[in-house]
Amino acid sequence: MRNIFRGRPKYVTVKAGTAPLKKDVPDGWWVQCQQCKTVLYRKDLERNLGICEKCRYHFPMSARERLRMLLDDPEAFVETDADLVPGNPLQFPEYEAKKERDLKKTGLRDAIITGSGVIEQHPVVLAIMEFGFLGGSMGSVVGEKLARAFDMALDGRLPVVVVSSSGGARMQEGIISLMQMQKTAAAVERHSRAGLLYISVLANPTTAGVWGSFASQGDVVIAEPGATVGFAGRQVIEAAVGKRVPPDLQTAETVFQNGFIDLIVPRDQLKGVIGQLLRLYGCPARKEAAAGAPEPEAKTDKEPEADK
Ligand SMILES: [Zn+2]
Repeated sequence: MRNIFRGRPKYVTVKAGTAPLKKDVPDGWWVQCQQCKTVLYRKDLERNLGICEKCRYHFPMSARERLRMLLDDPEAFVETDADLVPGNPLQFPEYEAKKERDLKKTGLRDAIITGSGVIEQHPVVLAIMEFGFLGGSMGSVVGEKLARAFDMALDGRLPVVVVSSSGGARMQEGIISLMQMQKTAAAVERHSRAGLLYISVLANPTTAGVWGSFASQGDVVIAEPGATVGFAGRQVIEAAVGKRVPPDLQTAETVFQNGFIDLIVPRDQLKGVIGQLLRLYGCPARKEAAAGAPEPEAKTDKEPEADK
């Protein structure tokens, strides 16, 4: 495998402070790791799925990039409810402008992408949160899209994979946001009672109302290394208990040690581990799913809720 890359030019990673960046290098070619301060060539970093080659820090990743990373054929992903747009029920100041800003930034109308696709030959329903849209917060549309995704999986008897990345409920929608916690939790439960698998992946950060509802309900809960995972913020906890809490209290590693997370999986192994879990839990693979159908190789690019 490695021989393939042998003939290619190797890009250099310049250690922070040892080589000043040249003025003629366009902005955006280099990026500094937040954790170890190494300066990394952006293309190398992208190839490495946003993982620092020196210290393995996981850079933020967009929902679309995660789709490309996880799916066998990203082109065959059938997105659902892409046109759902939240209202402004409380007439919250600047909410409309912020949604507009983040639509331009992310290309999404809200903080989640849902749909159906194939991971390691297994048809799944997938939901991926976008932290770049209002901090990945869950309002009416995020909750509704998630609940519909679980119901679609229930109808098609498919497993669900959710990748969370969220600060929690969306304050601009007030109580309507909080209601999404119950709505999504109930949808997960319906899916679960039918004996279907739900894999919950926690990216950085997964906190508050999202951790307190569907994100912690997975049959298997997987976190990315170093992700912040927790319910109340540090300041809230410190005010409540009246003392300082350890700095690593809400890292995935601490939460794992306390038994709330099943696995910590680096991003470059995530697809393989999800595939292994889908096989272990006996989820139908594409060939089995299509057995009996007249066209075994037919792609599922037409009907999102095709019989499986
Ligand atoms: Zn680093």
